[in-house]
Amino acid sequence: MQDALPTRGGGLDTEAVAALREQYGWNEIPRQKALSPFVVLARQFRGFLILILGLAAAIAFLLDERIDALAILVVLVLNAVLGFVQEWRAETALEALRAMLTPVAVVVRDGVERKIAAREIVPGDLVIVSAGEAIPADMRLQAGTELRTDESALTGESLPVPKTVGGEGAASRLFAGTTLVAGRATGIVTETGLQTDFGKVAALTGAVGEKQTELQKRLGQLAKEIGLASLVVAALVVAVGWYGGRPIFEMVMTGLSLTVAMVPEGLPAVVTITLALGASAMARRQALTRRLQAVETLGAASVICTDKTGTLTENAMRVTRLWTPDSAYDVTGEGYSTDGFIERDGIRVDAESDPILGALLRTALTCTNASLRRDGETWAMIGDPTEGALVAVARKGRACEVAPADRIAEVAFSSERKRMSVLAREGDGYRLHVKGAPEVVLDRSTAYLGQDGIESLDPSARQRIADAYARMAAQGLRVLALAARPADEGDVREHDLVFLGLAGMIDPPRPEVKSAIALARSAGIRVMMITGDGRLTAAAIAEQVGLGRPEVVEGGDLDALSDEQLSDLLRNDVLFARTRPEHKLRIVETLQAQGLIVAMTGDGVNDAPALKTADIGIAMGVRGTEVSRSAADLILLDDNFSTIVNAIAEGRRQFDNVRKFVRYLLCSNAGEVMAILANLFLGGPVIFLATQILWMNLITDGATAVALGLEKAEPEQMRSPPRRRGEPILGRTGMALVLCFGVYTSAASLWIFYSLLPLGTDLARTAAFTGMLVFEKVSVFAFRSLQKPVTSIGWLSNPVLIAAFTASLLLQVAAVYWPPLQTLLKTVPLSIDEWLTIGAFALPLVVVPEVVKGFTARRLDGAPA
Ligand code: ATP
Repeated sequence: MQDALPTRGGGLDTEAVAALREQYGWNEIPRQKALSPFVVLARQFRGFLILILGLAAAIAFLLDERIDALAILVVLVLNAVLGFVQEWRAETALEALRAMLTPVAVVVRDGVERKIAAREIVPGDLVIVSAGEAIPADMRLQAGTELRTDESALTGESLPVPKTVGGEGAASRLFAGTTLVAGRATGIVTETGLQTDFGKVAALTGAVGEKQTELQKRLGQLAKEIGLASLVVAALVVAVGWYGGRPIFEMVMTGLSLTVAMVPEGLPAVVTITLALGASAMARRQALTRRLQAVETLGAASVICTDKTGTLTENAMRVTRLWTPDSAYDVTGEGYSTDGFIERDGIRVDAESDPILGALLRTALTCTNASLRRDGETWAMIGDPTEGALVAVARKGRACEVAPADRIAEVAFSSERKRMSVLAREGDGYRLHVKGAPEVVLDRSTAYLGQDGIESLDPSARQRIADAYARMAAQGLRVLALAARPADEGDVREHDLVFLGLAGMIDPPRPEVKSAIALARSAGIRVMMITGDGRLTAAAIAEQVGLGRPEVVEGGDLDALSDEQLSDLLRNDVLFARTRPEHKLRIVETLQAQGLIVAMTGDGVNDAPALKTADIGIAMGVRGTEVSRSAADLILLDDNFSTIVNAIAEGRRQFDNVRKFVRYLLCSNAGEVMAILANLFLGGPVIFLATQILWMNLITDGATAVALGLEKAEPEQMRSPPRRRGEPILGRTGMALVLCFGVYTSAASLWIFYSLLPLGTDLARTAAFTGMLVFEKVSVFAFRSLQKPVTSIGWLSNPVLIAAFTASLLLQVAAVYWPPLQTLLKTVPLSIDEWLTIGAFALPLVVVPEVVKGFTARRLDGAPA
């Protein structure tokens, strides 16, 4: 049973909604660009490599080498199928992420405010939209003052458009696809879904994954450069060979094989897949990525600027203390429940028995947009938690209610104003109720309500109020001041107020935040609190969550600082209180100028510029505005700070894994290229056929590389500092590795080839080909961890890799013994002796890296911290 407290206006009832839904359908615009498997499949057949392969097939066909032509085509198709499976997985993962961004809306139905999915809205619904939220359907305005919308998405108009109740034409209408940037509007829905103006002209597009990330671009570029270089090398080889009297077909094929061997064709695809799967892994940990770039940048984050309310704290507010110039009160009760009491010196009091308290509570109850509703055993709150807490305490004290119709006007809350006012009709006159940050309200007050009625607010009275505020804030309470004054019709000037008192509410730190901050710090990431709340409250909460006692700088002080001064300040441990959104932008820019990679949280409309500028803009899934969400790269589904740290850990894992498979793929390619080139100088027959190289690179390498992308996090990952901006993926160590592996595997396969050559070219070639493939496969274990030996991370800890490894080896067995593949790849069966030789050469590839890593890992562990 729902015990509804009265709200403004009745709205539709359930039956009417059902009937209207039947008639008008859902409020949604079908995605026009639904993902088609054919498109994804077609994508597999474009690109540089495909062109080369197509060319190779054509040449083979023209020279009447039908089997070669067929083999290349088979490899092409198989490669496309594998690519398709992987890309489809990545795409569906991204699609699932897009679907998690379902918009919600607040409607009044059956007389109660409810939060519902925006698609459930029907024409006739009474909808309430707050600043920063998207307008869910076309509506006619019913109530709201000082309203402005951003209609740029619909009309291209970049300036905010004012809206007024009863205005002419579009001035009194709100449109789907636009956002409310100021005020709080109530409207009746006139059109939904495809009937809205937006539905008629525009199609919704998901933002995820449409832009290439830096890493994708860099690796795409790398692949292209290597590709071009390989063409030049191949052309030279063909020319030299031909000049030396070798058959032209053989040389062309060798040239093409060389190209195929050199181009790290798997790279861009594997990066995309790894990032996309990384994005789903993050979403499982409550961090939704809006751009793949975020997955990559997150791993490099060096400072997190976070707000306090709701991110470090639970945002479940409860008023525990009240203070008026006359008395101090304690409040009992739990959550948003109205079952509790207000006590003065241990004696229960209420609005009736204590008129000063009564005035305070009436303002608390009137100056709000929150509503409470009993939902079974618990109480549900719709609206801002700060306001919900005030409504709850007002009801505990049985404050006198203002009828919804008597609420005449509202000047909305914003982080800049730090206050909110409501004009209400009272008896024959009007009264303006104001609440907000204590210093802001006190600045606008000239009197206070005391035992003897309204008294002048002299300096000593101001001091008493300031002291009471400081006492409450020092305990970590969030403190709001309340004030009111008699007013005329339409008079909402927030001046000459009568100060009524203070409400102190607890907002406990989230329990997991302390360890998350400690983890971030051990990973060399700075954590900086930037809050709109007051100095003392912020400092108290900072201490509670383990941020220590940083220097507190207020927004006002920040304005007075020059850029250099701010930059110096930011090198120390600081926290910012009473900030306005524009301060965040300045802080981000200054930190970035110091070369730091900044993650910044934000929830309000005006946080959007800071979120866009930050390297990783982070918005809140629960309490954030639509505007902030669309400016962000990452959305926290649970608004929780520790989710940011988890996402950073995930980002670091992804980057490490990209590094692992880049090294692995290049090592594999290097071996093949070195073997082909060396063989050319040795003057023997071709060591690998074009089709065999294709087989090695396209069929079996991709799977193992993708599996490397799934490696678990390195244990040291969150104990080392963030990587530098633009740090190379391969680096010097990587290059050295590529060289070592390349020299060894090429030398080993050449040895096998030449030692078996007297027994027949086909046998020697099959053994060299199989040898190279086995070397590549077993060396994957060396790349599973950048530092740790496999013995310490567990041989079987990456099941996908084991599966890919086994499947590749089985495929190779088939390539050697299964007649159709024998024909295609021109192989002959190998005897046990040849397999043993291959095994013997493969062994060092597993053992040596283990020994080296075992040695260095011990040295690292033993090193002083
Ligand atoms: P954070 O920036 O960490 O989220 P915050 O919620 O305190 O903290 P703002 O939302 O910018 O930051 O609010 C600034 C101040 O405005 C608050 O500290 C409080 O004093 C006051 N305030 C907050 N909500 C309301 C409200 N609904 N009505 C009036 N004043 C409010």
